[in-house]
Amino acid sequence: MTQSVAFIGLGAMGYRMAAHLPKYFEKVLVWNRNFSKAEQHAAEYGTTAVELAQAVQADIIFSCLPTSDDVEQLIESVAIKSGSIWIDCTSGVPDSARRLVENLKAQNIDFLDAPVSGQTVGAENATLTFMVGGDVNAFERAYPAMAALGKLIQHVGEPGAGFAVKAINNMLLAVNLWSVTEGFSTLKAHGVNLDAALNCVNASSGKSFVTENIFPQRVLSREFPVTFGLPLLAKDTGIALDLVKDAKLPAPLLALTQSLIQTANLTAEPNSDFSAAAKLYESWSKITLK
Ligand code: NDP
Repeated sequence: MTQSVAFIGLGAMGYRMAAHLPKYFEKVLVWNRNFSKAEQHAAEYGTTAVELAQAVQADIIFSCLPTSDDVEQLIESVAIKSGSIWIDCTSGVPDSARRLVENLKAQNIDFLDAPVSGQTVGAENATLTFMVGGDVNAFERAYPAMAALGKLIQHVGEPGAGFAVKAINNMLLAVNLWSVTEGFSTLKAHGVNLDAALNCVNASSGKSFVTENIFPQRVLSREFPVTFGLPLLAKDTGIALDLVKDAKLPAPLLALTQSLIQTANLTAEPNSDFSAAAKLYESWSKITLK
């Protein structure tokens, strides 16, 4: 059966993700709030830029917006095709996914919370990880469309479970970023060459995604390229901490990290990359990580 696919939200992630769909689907519709981006996408990748009302008539609808509030407001404003599947790749809020599943079920529409990780480079290379919550049958029907954009497509549980996994993943990223910042500032204070230290750590038990990628490429290079906004990481750590509170668990390290990332976001220059959280610590230590 020929299926039509739509992608809503052509931001840093969505623009690159939607670019792969024409290789697999005959009809690929794209919509973006700033419509010129949709037109640019159509010209660049052979997709079709359409009004939102038309995009939601596709059989499979992807969305990738900043927050669950944005997604809920958008969904409330449109009449979506009955029988379609909505795959939301926003890093969102589990309660919102549960609400949307219930509301859309009444219209015979399946909703999957399907946030992604892998950064813009993963979107570009179609190597993203999808962590998906929701109905298993809908997951299986949606699998080929997600597989067009990702490498690991993992069902993780009930509605909201995908958003929960993503929030905790990004909290772990934040913990790592902050701890590596403190550790490497200490090494610099002791006169150690940071590139040499990084070589050692990356061949040792302290290595992480941050030491292997984020520190060399963004922090020590002083480039801080803006591909994943600091406000988005602050949002994700907030979602993670709400999950901790809902579970009534103690989580002193996660609570502290959420507070640090929140402070970094409030004090950062506008339009900062998440890696620029390290600059808050630099302002305290008076040590520049390079
Ligand atoms: P961007 O800020 O680059 O893009 C946001 C997109 O959402 C834009 O297309 C924007 O449209 C649109 N948008 C914003 N608000 C609304 C609204 N109220 N109604 C309709 N459209 C809206 O974000 P990213 O692509 O970086 O992130 C998107 C999601 O993916 C976030 O939840 C983020 O946490 C997550 N994510 C991001 C990663 C990254 O590396 N960047 C990695 C993994 C997940 P317009 O162009 O008109 O402003």
